[in-house]
Amino acid sequence: MTTETFAELGLSEDILRAVTEMGFEKPSPIQAQGIPPVLQGYDVIGQAQTGTGKTAAFGIPVLERIDTSSNAVQALILCPTRELAVQVSEEIGRLAKYVRGLRIEVIYGGDSIERQIRSLKRGVHIVVGTPGRVMDHMQRGTLSFDEVRMMVLDEADEMLDMGFREDIESILAEMPEERQTILFSATMSKPIMSITKRFQKDPVLVKVVRNELTNQNIEQVFFEVKPQAKVEVMTRLIDMYHLQSLLVFCNTKRKVDEIVEEMQLRGYAAEGLHGDLRQQQRNNVMSKFKASVTTVLVATDVAARGIDVSGLDAVINYDVPLDEEYYVHRIGRTGRAGMSGKAFSLVARDEKFRLRQIENYTKVKIEKGVIPSYEDIVGVRKARFIENISSAIQEGDLELYHDVLDTLRHSGFSTEQIVAAMTKQIMGVQKNEYADSNLAWEEKRNSDRRERGERGDRFGDRDRGSRFDRDRDGRRGERSDSPRGDRRSEGPRDRGNAPRTSAEPGMTRLFLSLGRKDNIQPRDIVGAIAGEANIPGKAIGAIDIYDKFTFVDVPERDARAVLRAMDGNTIKGKQVQIDIAK
Ligand code: ADP
Ligand code: MG
Repeated sequence: MTTETFAELGLSEDILRAVTEMGFEKPSPIQAQGIPPVLQGYDVIGQAQTGTGKTAAFGIPVLERIDTSSNAVQALILCPTRELAVQVSEEIGRLAKYVRGLRIEVIYGGDSIERQIRSLKRGVHIVVGTPGRVMDHMQRGTLSFDEVRMMVLDEADEMLDMGFREDIESILAEMPEERQTILFSATMSKPIMSITKRFQKDPVLVKVVRNELTNQNIEQVFFEVKPQAKVEVMTRLIDMYHLQSLLVFCNTKRKVDEIVEEMQLRGYAAEGLHGDLRQQQRNNVMSKFKASVTTVLVATDVAARGIDVSGLDAVINYDVPLDEEYYVHRIGRTGRAGMSGKAFSLVARDEKFRLRQIENYTKVKIEKGVIPSYEDIVGVRKARFIENISSAIQEGDLELYHDVLDTLRHSGFSTEQIVAAMTKQIMGVQKNEYADSNLAWEEKRNSDRRERGERGDRFGDRDRGSRFDRDRDGRRGERSDSPRGDRRSEGPRDRGNAPRTSAEPGMTRLFLSLGRKDNIQPRDIVGAIAGEANIPGKAIGAIDIYDKFTFVDVPERDARAVLRAMDGNTIKGKQVQIDIAK
């Protein structure tokens, strides 16, 4: 139990050398406890949470037991996704660096099967693969299991969740009787136990109790938030805590798309990750996130499993997870390696009981947080702005811009005026306020019913567009206004063109009395209309901004509501008159 070194596990020199090179100082608990029984040839069930080194826990003993003088496949490792299969084969590859003559092949769907067949023909000792593609090779007869002595199911819970049960069972059924079956998983469930019963012989259960959670450096806070205000609250938390890299978890794929779109409309560099994406897209998303081009990664639990991200500022539970174990996995993504992390949970009323269940399960009290007010947000943004300007002054090289100042002064503006106007532009803080009062749900049950009334549901954020202008590291203005640049064109620049006053079919074209001279951008319009009239931002159609006015298409059935909500209201602090376009 108290194995302190890899050497004490009785490993060969080849492996010890590799492990040292990889920088592993000592076996992790699951390795210390899992490696010996696997080495001794037992069937093993290993349970430990994500990121605890399960790969090496089976990878090392698998390597120790391979006979490289034979050319046959001796170990088969099944992984739920291509990504994980690649990760596992790479990790084992590193562990095998000094094992002479060892060959590993990773096989997964989407890669050329002919290429895989050619490699398999050359002789491979360890096959790492996804169940579907392994089945495929099995049926084609291009992969022989006759000599397989070790069979590993990695992330078994995920494989079952992803519907691989039948494939796994058929593969297991094809394996030689005389073999070792090893199963690793972060969670245990009935389906896993039934696989175990059918296919393992007297398995040794190695379970690493999770006690890291309590001493992990994670600040766990929850906020009571109305479902429709969750994105708003999330953006406030991002601004408030200056979160530059965060993982947002939600329970469904659809939510991922919705949140990403909402966040992008508000000017955040957000991208989503879920099972429906093609591999190439997933790779793109991940590399942008790792390069900090994307700052907000929105994912489902399954999609986030196996992605290798660390050093996150925070994890946000947009939804409370349906499984307590998921909560533990999710928040374990932040606060790693001695850094402190934040885990924020946005809790709607009907999710509250699940949060309690999580507290019972983890034995950690999750503190109730206060949603940052508009004042708070303005305060931190000002402070950050002052900091940024101070450092820009210290950096120097300001002579380049003197002529701009001169030109403005010649137009008769005072330096104070110029500076104030620039501050306003850069900070994007406007006079109007968020409706702080309508973000949280109250304990009383009655009040909710009436909220849906006329203008009641505004958790409005007229300021939302300006968030794009945040003091973010000079990235301001780099991205396009919205993910659908085609739709939200800035409008005809050519004054000669007559404005289009008729709407697209099914839409009503509205006239707004504000335009480019008021510094209005498409995102301001979307933000105001969506927030005030409580219609989804994506329902809003073409927006054409002219100097003094703007045309915007809204769905016919929402036109009334938009008129009611917007007329006399303000956008970016300016009063707007709104009417049906003539
Ligand atoms: P799991 O499968 O449990 O989620 P992995 O096997 O993917 O975890 O390991 C997570 C990370 O920890 C990998 O980057 C791996 O190289 C590293 N790691 C594994 N074992 C050790 C160890 N003993 N010491 C330090 N790092 C380790
Ligand atoms: Mg793993």
